[in-house]
Amino acid sequence: MTGAIAAPLTAHWSRIMKRWNGWGDEATTYPLPDVAAAYLEALVGRGEPEPDAEFPSAIASVPPSRLPSHSLVSDDPAERLLHARGQSLPDWVALRSGLIGVFSDGVAYPTTDEGVQSLFAFARKTAARLIPYGGGTSVVGHINPLKGDSPVLTLDLSRMNRLLQLDQVSGLATFEAGVRGPDLEDQLRPQGFTLGHFPQSFELSTLGGWIATRSSGQQSYHYGRIEDTFAGGHLETLAGPLDLPPLPASAAGPDIRHLVLGSEGRLGVITRAIVRTRRLPEVEQFYGVFFHNWQAGADAVRAIAQAEIAVSMLRLSDAQETETTLALSGKERLVRWADRGLRLLRYGSERCLLVLGVTGGGGAVRAAYRQATSVCRAHGGLMPLRPIGSIWRKSRFLAPYLRNTLWEKGYALDTVETAVPWSAVMPTAAAIKASIASALTEFGERVLVFAHLSHVYLDGASTYVTFLFRRAHDPEETVERWRRLKASATLAILAQGGTISHQHGVGLDHAPYLTAEKGQVGMAMLQAARRALDPEGMLNPGKLLAGE
Ligand SMILES: Cc1cc2nc3c(=O)[nH]c(=O)nc-3n(C[C@H](O)[C@H](O)[C@H](O)COP(=O)(O)OP(=O)(O)OC[C@H]3O[C@@H](n4cnc5c(N)ncnc54)[C@H](O)[C@@H]3O)c2cc1C
Repeated sequence: MTGAIAAPLTAHWSRIMKRWNGWGDEATTYPLPDVAAAYLEALVGRGEPEPDAEFPSAIASVPPSRLPSHSLVSDDPAERLLHARGQSLPDWVALRSGLIGVFSDGVAYPTTDEGVQSLFAFARKTAARLIPYGGGTSVVGHINPLKGDSPVLTLDLSRMNRLLQLDQVSGLATFEAGVRGPDLEDQLRPQGFTLGHFPQSFELSTLGGWIATRSSGQQSYHYGRIEDTFAGGHLETLAGPLDLPPLPASAAGPDIRHLVLGSEGRLGVITRAIVRTRRLPEVEQFYGVFFHNWQAGADAVRAIAQAEIAVSMLRLSDAQETETTLALSGKERLVRWADRGLRLLRYGSERCLLVLGVTGGGGAVRAAYRQATSVCRAHGGLMPLRPIGSIWRKSRFLAPYLRNTLWEKGYALDTVETAVPWSAVMPTAAAIKASIASALTEFGERVLVFAHLSHVYLDGASTYVTFLFRRAHDPEETVERWRRLKASATLAILAQGGTISHQHGVGLDHAPYLTAEKGQVGMAMLQAARRALDPEGMLNPGKLLAGE
């Protein structure tokens, strides 16, 4: 087994030109082959695309700024447009239709703690609201300015992007919090270290954003979620600076770091983060393993997790996701060949694909591979296929680009995610999928829905559900279809006792459901923390805590 570990994870990451109304780098596309278009048409009907609004006309809709001038603040309409929305489905509809409505009055790019403090003083003087902004990749409305009488100032942290210190003995790296994933890894890897935090939004999302939303990377099974790697750092709050020392463990009362994790810009601006890094692994490899059905695959994945076998990733698609991934892959001949072979081996229409990763030192990786594949075999898994794992590795950050292509063909795509204990995983996945599948019956629309188990724990797993439906001619109706889908899926999650978000956070879209998860007392604790650090309610109002 070998793996080109020190190489960049994406070929072009330092030259990225961010799309203003879709996902990712302008120069990267994910073409949809004719056979894939026909596949989608058969499942949900032919897409009827509407033309998108042009950038200049969207800029023309930006109103004059309500803020006076400040040396760190730009009121340029193009900058304000580029920071107006994130990546949620309503954000896409707004940007593509040009009906954006609300904009920040200015965008500031602080480069120091003092810069952030001076922007706080400016906001106090002008009664402005402040939105900390990392990469703007939120999928739940975290960074959207809201309508109101107060001016809104977006604090874009992207110019705070340096590695300040690497303690090689402890493996602790201190970064400015606006550093994007690729720039973070580019600064660590030459020194032989990696953070290993790879959300699918890796190209554009930032360390501060990961902490503020409690994000989870593709190999969280090995590297941990962001809360496992966030060791400390520094926040500028409206009540003063807050230092979080990087203690490996502490019994000194509740851990303040856990209040900062998931704080969604409500408690302060994270300007520096100290993270636990690892030595670059000697070996990294991915494999595809087919199972006869989802239950067999899920049993294998649970057995691997509960035996604590040291794999780095377990990502199990259901049958519909397995079929759709192959249909949309553009590798028609390979898929036909694989289908024939799999059927001969009696892996029929219920077959499911597990992508299994192993990462680490040579001996440990060989042992993990042997143990994991033996569990897979015991559950009817086919022998591990390395070419499938290599295809997954190559396209690990490419899949979100499909959303651009699908949109242009007249389809909208979104996801919901949750986590539950193992005993509830399969019923929860079934309930979410059933609720989504029937949510648009009233509109006479069909929905393609599929799922995977992605982040796996000793006691449970996350379920990640994707749904695809036709856009309406009227943008507001597209949003209404999405609202129905999102609400019915979220209610199904709550009915099963799942979290309202395993990794995307709360933002605007999940805020109405937070009390159902935290309870009245839990909400009062969060509100008290917010009031202690931001008594005037200046930071990112309306997000996380609805109505505050
Ligand atoms: C295509 C795609 C794939 C994705 N895949 C994943 C995935 O695999 N795993 C996952 O967990 N998420 C994923 N996401 C969701 C998103 O990328 C994460 O929520 C990410 O952590 C957001 O980081 P960001 O830097 O873009 O933050 P932003 O979107 O800019 O901000 C998110 C929130 O964090 C706050 N914030 C940002 N920076 C700071 C700071 N320095 N100080 C204080 N508050 C701050 C903001 O105020 C806001 O409330 C995906 C999103 C997309 C569009």
